[in-house]
Amino acid sequence: MRLRCAMDKTEILSITNMSLPELEELCTSMGEPTYRARQILSWVYDKGATTFDQMSNLPKNFQRQLAGLCQVYQTKVDSVTQTADGAEKFLVRPFDENVVECVLLREGKRITACVSTQVGCAMACRFCASGLLGLERNLTTGEMVEQVLHVKGHLLPDERLTNIVFMGIGEPFMNYDNVIRAVRIMNSEWGLGIGARHITISTVGIVDSILRLAHEGLQVNLAISLHAPDDSIRSKIIPSNKKIGIKNIIDAAREYFEITRRDISFEYILIEGVNASGQDAESLARLLKGMQCNINILPVNPVEEFSWRPPSRETIETFCRTLDKHGLVVTLRKKKGGHINAACGQLRLQRCKFLWKNEKYLVK
Ligand code: SF4
Repeated sequence: MRLRCAMDKTEILSITNMSLPELEELCTSMGEPTYRARQILSWVYDKGATTFDQMSNLPKNFQRQLAGLCQVYQTKVDSVTQTADGAEKFLVRPFDENVVECVLLREGKRITACVSTQVGCAMACRFCASGLLGLERNLTTGEMVEQVLHVKGHLLPDERLTNIVFMGIGEPFMNYDNVIRAVRIMNSEWGLGIGARHITISTVGIVDSILRLAHEGLQVNLAISLHAPDDSIRSKIIPSNKKIGIKNIIDAAREYFEITRRDISFEYILIEGVNASGQDAESLARLLKGMQCNINILPVNPVEEFSWRPPSRETIETFCRTLDKHGLVVTLRKKKGGHINAACGQLRLQRCKFLWKNEKYLVK
């Protein structure tokens, strides 16, 4: 029998779904002192235990009781694909046999886990393989926390996970409550212990949630996938923009800054002939005038299903120089993972295609 978590009826009762107070409550309800909760969490987050019988300072009887009631992990790693540029893509299988991706990125001492928040995505951005499969379901808190644990467990002895970005498959703000719970577990001293300023949430611009995040009291970084200087271009790239509207996003971003005093990052994927001209750069500079922000430029990663291609080196440099001329902080990002068909959703897409072909697995 699978028990469901009291906090959320859709979640399996697993340690990675629980906060410290919730686990203390569980321990107390089982007749154990509250300090057992910290012991269990230390085994999971510090020592990498995956089963209760590895937790040698817990009484044997308590280990057995826990194992009968809940589980430590609710996912397992299906495969890890390595790339020449240092990225490693994990295909993670939750309890219901879906598949999600998380990615380990190494850039010098900065070691980042890129986490998925949904199985599939409803946003259907026109440069992203994830949107092609539609939305299957939201991931639970534990399923997000475990992606990071899988990455952490894969690191070399002298490596340390330094950053977490919610930039994998899914729109984090369409799964707001679970994402924020996951962030708190990743950030807490009894959990993964990653500083909030090293955690980034990326959104296409769900306005209500941007403002909600501003009041959470979390020092996390907010990244907004802008990708265009106006609504007519943005709606071609991100269909959901027709309902959102770029002005509402910028207004929300300005309000977010007023409340949190934290800079926002704008992500901008450059697509040849769509949003990469000098005029587009001028319009973008006007749109963001006076904002405390960083702009991350990334040439589009070609996806077999879409015809969009990255611009020439010269066009990219002209675009960046134009923004720089207007006093905006611009960073040109490197593409990672594209050459193994594994950038944002492509690995999962390939896996699903393989399974479709073999008639073993159906994804909507
Ligand atoms: S870019 Fe993000 S929000 Fe857009 S379809 Fe892909 S996963 Fe969804």
